[in-house]
Amino acid sequence: MSDTDTTPTISTDVEDSTSERETRPTPDSDEAVIESRNLSVHYGDVQALQSIDLQIPNRQVTAIIGPSGCGKSTFLRCINRMNDLVEAATIDGKLLFNGTDVYEEDIDPVALRRRIGMVFQHPNPFPKSIYDNVAYGLRIQGITDDMDERVEQALKRAALWDEVKDQLDKSALDLSGGQQQRLCIARAIAVDPDVLLMDEPASALDPIATSKIEDLIEELAEEYTVAIVTHNMQQAARISDKTAVFLTGGELAEFGDTQKIFENPDSQRVEDYITGKFG
Ligand code: ADP
Repeated sequence: MSDTDTTPTISTDVEDSTSERETRPTPDSDEAVIESRNLSVHYGDVQALQSIDLQIPNRQVTAIIGPSGCGKSTFLRCINRMNDLVEAATIDGKLLFNGTDVYEEDIDPVALRRRIGMVFQHPNPFPKSIYDNVAYGLRIQGITDDMDERVEQALKRAALWDEVKDQLDKSALDLSGGQQQRLCIARAIAVDPDVLLMDEPASALDPIATSKIEDLIEELAEEYTVAIVTHNMQQAARISDKTAVFLTGGELAEFGDTQKIFENPDSQRVEDYITGKFG
């Protein structure tokens, strides 16, 4: 992956965190990798998202927050077309990835999901060895060379290598919940995606495992564009650069620098939500 690679195609090739954020390298730019234009989603008669215009910048963490049912997961799932799997879902508007609409007819969703990986709320490793979990995505993409090296690198980037390097043949299901989630992150990044989507990735974990995932997300944003749905506002404030606040009815109420959203939002409704007056 290179900073200058802006090819507009989807190929199959291969609590106060200010000080922490200040130590991170400056992101390349606010150039959008993902952009939604007038994006609306219905499930049957229920409107889940209303005309969302949102730009997710390159190599930063963008948090999507808001009360339950406001469309956060729906938005995330539109980005790599996971909503294709929901029969009742209809999607209008555009969702651009590096300038290409992912809903164009000739886009292959499987190839798209290699470039835009996803990590879910509950760790979902396969009932296979640690090694095979990471190797799985590579194999289905037809990548067979340097497998050991690729698996090791993915586990290192997911901050799991030191804990598992002597037991790669062990079942992934024997790992702790936090380790399983880092394994799922390793599996997602093994195929070298551009974007990582994370849907409440730490909400099923204990505080120590959560803290490790949060540290990891900040590190991953040095190499990947990360979009994370979280119901935990402190978590969004700690780890994200940008925050999008969705409100009931599937409306994007505000989007901007995380510090500004949390300290001085433009909208009274966002301030009421952030300060816990509702939601
Ligand atoms: P959030 O992630 O903010 O909790 P969701 O995106 O899960 O919100 O849901 C937004 C709205 O869409 C809710 O009203 C929810 O009930 C509805 N919804 C989500 N998924 C489906 C589905 N598969 N079928 C029907 N309705 C759905």
